[in-house]
Amino acid sequence: MNSLMDIWNEIKHILSTQLTPTAINTWFTDCEPVELEECRLVLRTPTEFKKKIISERFSPTITKILSDLFACDFDLLILVGDEEYEKEPSGDDPLPEMAGYTFDNFIVGNSNKFAHAAAISVAENPGKNYNPLFIYGNSGLGKTHLLWAIGHSIHERFPEKKISYIKGDDFTNEMVKSIKEGKTEEFRNKHRNVDLFLVDDIQFIAGKQSTQIEFFHTFNYIYEAGHQIVITSDRPPMEMSLLDDRLRTRFEGGLMADIAPPDLETRMAIARNKATRLGLILPDDIIEYIAASVTANVRQLEGVIKRLTAYKEILNSDITRASVDRAIDDVTKKGTDIPKPENIIRETAKYYSLKPEDLKGNNRSKNTAMARQIAMYLMRQLTNLSLNDIGKELGRNHTTALSSIRKIEDLMRSDQDMTGVIRDITSNITTSSGG
Ligand code: ADP
Ligand code: MG
Repeated sequence: MNSLMDIWNEIKHILSTQLTPTAINTWFTDCEPVELEECRLVLRTPTEFKKKIISERFSPTITKILSDLFACDFDLLILVGDEEYEKEPSGDDPLPEMAGYTFDNFIVGNSNKFAHAAAISVAENPGKNYNPLFIYGNSGLGKTHLLWAIGHSIHERFPEKKISYIKGDDFTNEMVKSIKEGKTEEFRNKHRNVDLFLVDDIQFIAGKQSTQIEFFHTFNYIYEAGHQIVITSDRPPMEMSLLDDRLRTRFEGGLMADIAPPDLETRMAIARNKATRLGLILPDDIIEYIAASVTANVRQLEGVIKRLTAYKEILNSDITRASVDRAIDDVTKKGTDIPKPENIIRETAKYYSLKPEDLKGNNRSKNTAMARQIAMYLMRQLTNLSLNDIGKELGRNHTTALSSIRKIEDLMRSDQDMTGVIRDITSNITTSSGG
């Protein structure tokens, strides 16, 4: 089975429910899929005119279908005639990864308006105004979001600029690996010869002596070339007790911007925005209730909305105070908003008196196959894993994941019992410990 073809057929199938047969014939019969990458679909069509029409009229629908399937924002690339497709070298363009983290999607309130304004200013004049920009604040308040927003904005306006993104702990790991493999030169080139250096969660390098030295040199190299550096951290430099003094001085020499927990009004705006993006319509009193209950962490606020979307799809009922309470409990009590795949697999197996290994193995008995399909369906509903990742959890590929999920969806439509089973397992997952 050709999985790229399967996905393309699925897209055409969905399009055919929205378009006339003539439209499908005209625009899509001679359009063929070329590649499906992490977050990009490449198509080929014979003429410039068809390319223009497809990208103008149909690309929003196609990318929407893809993001529904893969839980990732997609872009569509259309080739004309025998134009060749040149893959972007992987690792060099980190941007599609966090496609949703843009300035457009960032809600500004009192708690983050300074950091936001600083980020905009840096994005408009990289390397000119504030270097480095150092954004700090507690977890879940939007630091990584702003970091990527700067990246996206610069990438959009100056596509030729080289951008590198790295997390503090990955910097350490990569460096150690490069030393082991005798590739320090490559490591240096990769991070030094950039126009924009995005460093997330720098706190992880504090206390690691050799990493700090390497980072110091990297920093100076980029800084002296007049290129922009943006750093995030869970605390300000002066509170990082193990930070090398030379680095502290460098960090404090730029602009420091903190993000505080959002006020009620901002939380409401964020909740509303997230719900709208997930296609969930919530009445104002529910929005306010959620925003009043989840106060310290935007990631959790989003987690609640995400849960409600899943409940609504699974239970197919209106959102009530009770379901909101449950979602809030789930997200805040366990300190995590999304159940782990192991947990979903374990609870599903348990429900069918099976072991997790049974679901991961090759047993095709009816019971086991059903449990396996349900586990995939629930991973789809309750986590933001891609189809690929869902398949991998159970040793399958994304095509199998997709058809399993479809199968359960069909069953739920035709069989009340199935809806009950899904509800029970979901409830076991969300009440069991271990996320
Ligand atoms: P941090 O890096 O500070 O831990 P993130 O940037 O990962 O936090 O934010 C956590 C989640 O909350 C992300 O999904 C992000 O998009 C969202 N988020 C945070 N602040 C905002 C905001 N002001 N507007 C919209 N979404 C936000
Ligand atoms: Mg972060």
